[in-house]
Amino acid sequence: MIHGTDYISMVKELLEKADIASEIPGPDAEIVLKPNLVTDSDPSRGATTHPELLAGTIEYLKEHGFRNIVIMESSWVGCVTEYAFKAAGYDSVCRKYDVPFVDLQKDSSREYDCAGMKIRICDRPMKADYLINMPVLKGHCQTTVTCALKNLKGIIPNAEKRRFHTLGLHKPIAHLSVKAKDSFILVDNICGDLDFEEGGNPVQMDRIVQMDRILGVWDPVLCDAFVCESMGYEVDDVPYIRMAEKLGVGSADTSGAEILRLNEPSVKSSRFRMTGRVKRLAQNTDPQDACSACYGSLIHALNRMSEDGTLGKHRNRIAIGQGYKGKSGEIGVGQCTSCFKKTLKGCPPKASEIRAFLEDEWD
Ligand code: SF4
Repeated sequence: MIHGTDYISMVKELLEKADIASEIPGPDAEIVLKPNLVTDSDPSRGATTHPELLAGTIEYLKEHGFRNIVIMESSWVGCVTEYAFKAAGYDSVCRKYDVPFVDLQKDSSREYDCAGMKIRICDRPMKADYLINMPVLKGHCQTTVTCALKNLKGIIPNAEKRRFHTLGLHKPIAHLSVKAKDSFILVDNICGDLDFEEGGNPVQMDRIVQMDRILGVWDPVLCDAFVCESMGYEVDDVPYIRMAEKLGVGSADTSGAEILRLNEPSVKSSRFRMTGRVKRLAQNTDPQDACSACYGSLIHALNRMSEDGTLGKHRNRIAIGQGYKGKSGEIGVGQCTSCFKKTLKGCPPKASEIRAFLEDEWD
């Protein structure tokens, strides 16, 4: 764990200490960097991996004689990866270091047996000799937190991402980690949004919190268990962590973990205080297999209404998700609720559209 604001130097110092060069099988090995480009958003908004983490890692790898480095990622359903790539400033990193980027939304894929669950995974990352997973430590309005395990959802095709939601997210995330293995995890804990996967409320530092840190971890289960505890949750609040542990992916026992601090934070607190805002807003919703982009937009819309004092009290909860396809009901958001009396089409609809719809139509 390292704190500070010179992110490139911090990454290099951390990787030196972890000595990942000694694990990489030869100078020609293909090393894949897998950041989080969930949506087209500047990393300062708390959703996407900072480009400095890529830059620091590439400098470290090149200084150790590795040349075959590729960045790979796909954005969530509803965002074109190319837009997210530019919004996060990765185009400059690729140009400066002459490193290619592979958009996994365009990659081929094949099906794997992931401990009894069939999952399609993109071909390119599965050929990597060494994969460095670079998630953002942040909140998620469906899974509570997201970090190492869930970041690997970026290496499956879009259709499979949708299917994950119909399977309840937790179980497929755990099973995916059986086959889609990361070799090392570099966590961007700089300013992640502690409520929303898509950012907008970055938390960098205040009276009680210092983020501005980078974590290096080998075990994705331990990583996510540590993240839970850092955010004030129990590991059992995030079911996919225990599920992955039971599948033999890693250990959630943080009491047995050795944490090596390369320096100390300037604010002496490593526990974040959660607002519970998402939980409160979610009481207005009735999700069934909702995609993250769709549900996140709805929560954002409700949040804006709450901030403006227009949320009020309502008779009906808002239905959302693939579980409502072909079903009738009072009010729903997204194409999947097109048979409802009142419905907003779009797949996914934008938060601004949802807000306008709810302000007009929600009884
Ligand atoms: S409308 Fe349905 S399929 Fe489309 S994003 Fe929303 S939940 Fe997913």
